[in-house]
Amino acid sequence: MYDVIIVGGGPAGLTAGIYAKRYGLNTLLIEKIAPGGQMNLTTTIENYPGFDEPVSGYVLANKMLNQVLSLGVEVKYSEVLDIDFKDNKKRIFCDDGEYETQTIILAMGSSPKRLGIEGRFIGKGVSYCGTCDAPLFKGKTVAAVGGGDTALEESIILANHASKVHLIHRRDKFRGQKVLQDHVLNNPKIQIHFNRVPVKIDGENFVQSIELKSTIDNTTEKLDIDGVFIFIGNKPNTDFLKGKIEMNDDGFILVDKDMQTNIDGVFAAGDILNKHVKQIVLACSDGALAAFSAMSFCKLT
Ligand code: NAP
Repeated sequence: MYDVIIVGGGPAGLTAGIYAKRYGLNTLLIEKIAPGGQMNLTTTIENYPGFDEPVSGYVLANKMLNQVLSLGVEVKYSEVLDIDFKDNKKRIFCDDGEYETQTIILAMGSSPKRLGIEGRFIGKGVSYCGTCDAPLFKGKTVAAVGGGDTALEESIILANHASKVHLIHRRDKFRGQKVLQDHVLNNPKIQIHFNRVPVKIDGENFVQSIELKSTIDNTTEKLDIDGVFIFIGNKPNTDFLKGKIEMNDDGFILVDKDMQTNIDGVFAAGDILNKHVKQIVLACSDGALAAFSAMSFCKLT
């Protein structure tokens, strides 16, 4: 029986691991694939304190993991399939067995949203990660969809490899940070298509074109491209908990100021929470607070 089990090994979960172990809790961290979460999909991070030069997401993720391991946190690689939240002895069912714990910190993060028109082209020209796949499109023409920080950052990365990037956004103003907007607007390889939504992706075996519809007059146009990168936000990885814990209509888990969910002894942290600003440093902060709350709960019960 563990004091705390942390589900998810992104920045929120890893920080929770560091704090929980230092609070003296018998801690298990369960991660599905590779620790780091969405940090692993980020080429350069320029706004994480303590690094006066850009750091790659993969490097930062590994530094956090090494800190967790050096403190003696137990880390298992397994998929959590279900959780029984009843009573003090909560049970977590994984593909490799069952674990018991007094408290849980949910930190499963989020996954990229889909446009709904990708069809058979996922992995055949449609991608959700510029950092991972941009080098495959060296000298080619690609489309990027979205107007947030991710779309702007990743378009700049894509432009380092592709010969041309069509950036497609459904409104006439970007949502992303001003500094990124300036970089995009000043990049000669990036052509911006405001007030357009993609309605069809086409090709034989691989993506060859994308059809855009104007949100102003419904006219359509077709762009010849070799790849489509979709950056339209993320959905929380909470599907397996629907109906078991309080969440909003979009599946984001609701917590109080101490990261406590509606279930005693169950806390949540990071991108699975319903909050406006999503940043690595904020996920870390959530994780630290959730670990403190888990420690307080263990002492009290
Ligand atoms: P986001 O901020 O939610 O932006 C999603 C973008 O996709 C918006 O521009 C949205 O348009 C558009 N969109 C959504 N659904 C669409 C659809 N069905 N069709 C076409 N367009 C659609 O997501 P994000 O850019 O992935 O960022 C997520 C969070 O991470 C944010 O809090 C962001 O600040 C943070 N982040 C920070 C950094 C950084 O600090 N360097 C880097 C990456 C991400 P509308 O604008 O019209 O809604």
